[in-house]
Parts: sequence; C-alpha cells; structure tokens
Amino acid sequence: MADFYRIPVSELLPEGVPLPVEQAEKIVLNLEALYDHPDSELEHVAKLARSIQQRRGDYNGRILSIRADDLYTLAVVYSTTPSGLIEKLEDFGVLVHDLQAFFASDAE
Ligand code: C2E
Ligand code: C2E
Repeated sequence: MADFYRIPVSELLPEGVPLPVEQAEKIVLNLEALYDHPDSELEHVAKLARSIQQRRGDYNGRILSIRADDLYTLAVVYSTTPSGLIEKLEDFGVLVHDLQAFFASDAE
C-alpha cells in the first residue's frame, strides 16, 4: 500500500510503533593497545587510526570509533571480510566492547 501511495511505510503505522532497525556493531578501537602493540600486522590499522584522528582533529581520545566503510576498506587490505577483520582485531585485543567497563577500570 505504501508503494502504491508512494509514501514511507512508517506513515501507515500507528504512532509510536518503531520500524525494526538493524543495528550494525560499532567498531571502537583501543588506541593505547593498538599503538603499543608490537605486531607489525596491525600497522595498517594504526596508520588508518592516526589518519582519522588527524582528520577529526581528535588527538586526546583513548578510543576511536571507526566508520563501517573504513572497516570494509581495511578488510580488503587484509584480504578478509569485515567480520574476519573484527575477529582478528579481537584476537589482538585492540577492540573496546564495553565502554562503561573500559572507563570504569580507570576509576578503580
Ligand atoms: P565529513 O564526512 O563531511 O563530516 C563532517 C562532520 O560531520 C564531521 O567532522 C563530524 O563532525 C560529522 N560527522 C560525519 N559523520 C559522522 C558520524 O558518523 N558520526 C558523528 N558523530 N559525526 C559525524 P569531523 O569529525 O571534524 O571530520 C571532518 C572530515 O574528516 C569529515 O568530513 C571526513 O571527510 C573526514 N573524516 C573524519 N572522520 C573520518 C572517518 O572515520 N573516516 C573517513 N573516511 N573520513 C573521516
Ligand atoms: P555514530 O556517530 O553513532 O553514527 C552511527 C552511524 O550513523 C554512522 O555509522 C553513519 O552511518 C550514520 N551517521 C551519523 N552521523 C552521520 C553524518 O553526519 N553523515 C552521514 N552520512 N552519516 C552519519 P558509521 O559511518 O559506520 O560510523 C560509526 C561511528 O564512527 C560513528 O557513530 C562515529 O562515532 C564515528 N564516526 C564516523 N565518522 C565520523 C566523523 O566524520 N567524525 C567523527 N567525529 N566521528 C565519526
């Protein structure tokens, strides 16, 4: 019906009914862990992170959220898929999953 009337489906739903949105996982890098990591395999990730910090003018953060598009490009560089790269980054211990826990560990 929405197609027929050329209007968004949401216009036909009762108010307050949200459309299901598929939430992509946010990729958050732990910059200290990344920059201090001795494995040269992470070189390209570190280079991209530095370049993003530079473009955002954001040099103070300990974490960096990266775009899904950039993750995709990086995956190509590593000849893998985005999820394959996430697994790799996970194994290297350079991802932050729980921001609250990450910052809470500082306060202890
Ligand atoms: P842009 O893509 O034209 O984005 C302009 C501004 O919109 C950004 O300024 C930021 O304040 C905001 N913005 C854009 N996308 C997002 C987003 O997904 N989330 C949030 N919270 N804000 C967003 P900013 O950060 O100073 O970046 C300046 C320019 O640097 C961007 O212009 C873009 O060309 C480049 N850049 C920054 N971060 C990235 C990145 O992670 N990947 C890539 N490929 N380029 C980036
Ligand atoms: P976020 O700010 O929570 O944004 C989540 C998603 O909303 C982004 O996923 C993007 O698809 C969309 N989005 C948000 N703001 C903008 C915008 O200004 N322009 C466009 N075209 N899309 C926008 P994405 O791209 O995968 O980025 C993931 C996260 O990376 C963002 O989460 C944000 O924390 C960070 N990020 C991405 N680009 C920028 C940027 O240019 N500047 C800054 N400061 N942060 C960015």
